[in-house]
Formats: sequence, structure tokens, C-alpha cells
Amino acid sequence: MGYPGPVERLIENLSKLPGIGRKTATRLAFFLLNSRVDYVKELSQSIQDIKEKIKLCSICFNITDIDPCTICKDQKRDSSVICVVEEPSHLMVLEQAYPGVFRYHVLHGVINPLEGIGPEDLKIAELVQRVKDSGISEVLIATNLNLEGNSTAYYIADQLKPLNVKVTRIASGIPAGGDIIYTDPQTIKNSLENRRDIF
Ligand SMILES: [Zn+2]
Repeated sequence: MGYPGPVERLIENLSKLPGIGRKTATRLAFFLLNSRVDYVKELSQSIQDIKEKIKLCSICFNITDIDPCTICKDQKRDSSVICVVEEPSHLMVLEQAYPGVFRYHVLHGVINPLEGIGPEDLKIAELVQRVKDSGISEVLIATNLNLEGNSTAYYIADQLKPLNVKVTRIASGIPAGGDIIYTDPQTIKNSLENRRDIF
């Protein structure tokens, strides 16, 4: 015999979350069942809000609830450098390690032929257009220092070549094959400051 319909449905929906199996989903469902109604309403509202209120910034493609986002609006940042990152979560990590300096461009992935992800699936054309349109003198590519991150960096550098803009790559310090998200702030700061030309 299963749990009552609504409980079953919640367990089923929670099990779809990454890393949550049926056992954990059941535990969470009963936690919610025993929680105060205010909390449950607040939780479900905050889940809905990320779909209804969060969009991509029309300039840098970071996630935001206002457009342009607060980083793009920030006049104190260097307007001659764009730091290119794979994901919004990477931007957050860089920004926490090295706050208030760069403007960014979020690719929303990396080129990965095995998973069928090509340049046209990323915000690369938008980056090239942005560099064309504005007074950018340097593009710092801060994709991960692994195979996909490197080949994406070289692809972007190639696309930017005709524009006569300086293209740099974060320095190691971030271990080869390493993921930015698991790197400590000091190492990130060093790799941004010691960036090097890509060609
Ligand atoms: Zn923005």
C-alpha cells in the first residue's frame, strides 16, 4: 500500500531532484508534512519565483531579476575588460574572490562535441557582437582549465582574432583539469591577476 496520493506525488517530484533518491525524498516529504504552513508556502513560492522572476541579463547573460543586471549597471567596474565564464555559478565564485573589478559574459556551457554542444548553443556570437559594439580592449577567458574549457577558449580567441582585441586566459594555479568551482579564493585571485595572452 502506498502513501496517500498527495504525499506520493510530492515524493515522486522530490525524487527528480539531483542526488535525491526515493528514501531521501520520503524523508523530505514527511519533514514538509510536519512543517509550519508558512514555511511550506514560502518554500513553494520561492521555487515558483525562480521561474517567474529570474531571466538572463540582455548584456552579459548572467541570471538576474533586473535587466541589465547590477554588475552591468555598475559604473565603477573596468569597462575595457570582459571576463568570460561558463556558468552563472562560476561568475559568483570569481566575483567573491575578486569583487567589483570585472564585467562578465556568461556562455552557459562549453563546447562539447560528445554531448552535442556546439558554439551555436552558447552565447559566443553574442560575445563577439558585444566586443564589436563596445570599447572592449581585453577579453579574459575564465573557462575551466580542462579539455572542454580550453577548446572553448581557443575557439573564442579565434572568433575574436579579426577584432584586434587582446585575448587572455586565466593562469594556472587553478590545477590543470581543475574546476573553478572547487578552487579557493586566493588561487582564483592569483590566476586572474597572472592571466596570460592566449596566442
Ligand atoms: Zn549583466
